[in-house]
Amino acid sequence: MACIFCQIAKGEIPSRFLYQDEEVYAIRDISPKAPTHVLIIPLAHIPAATDVTLQDARVLGKMVLVAAQLAQREGLAGRGYRLIINNGPDAGQVVQHLHLHLLGGRPLGDMG
Ligand code: 5GP
Ligand code: ZN
Repeated sequence: MACIFCQIAKGEIPSRFLYQDEEVYAIRDISPKAPTHVLIIPLAHIPAATDVTLQDARVLGKMVLVAAQLAQREGLAGRGYRLIINNGPDAGQVVQHLHLHLLGGRPLGDMG
């Protein structure tokens, strides 16, 4: 089954990468919910947070590190930002390939 984030990782769908290394990449969300809305995505196909194992600890740490660095670059470090991982139907997970949302640039309210 075609996975959009695997296809982007392989360069099959041209995208502008804000960050890219051998473990993770970052792109702007196609449908931004805030002035800054970036997705930080592992190259490996991990379907959801539920599927994360201890072997993935390094890449999960890298995702948070990259998010913090991009937040700084976007001018959000002082004012704050939110990191979100949606998992499963109630959370509204649409793409079944783990990704971390970086949201900021406006007051984000109590949730989402
Ligand atoms: P989820 O609800 O699964 O946590 O979030 C999926 C996110 O991926 C959504 O915010 C959606 O706008 C974004 N998205 C879906 N397809 C694409 C795409 O092809 N390119 C980019 N840049 N973002 C996408
Ligand atoms: Zn995938």
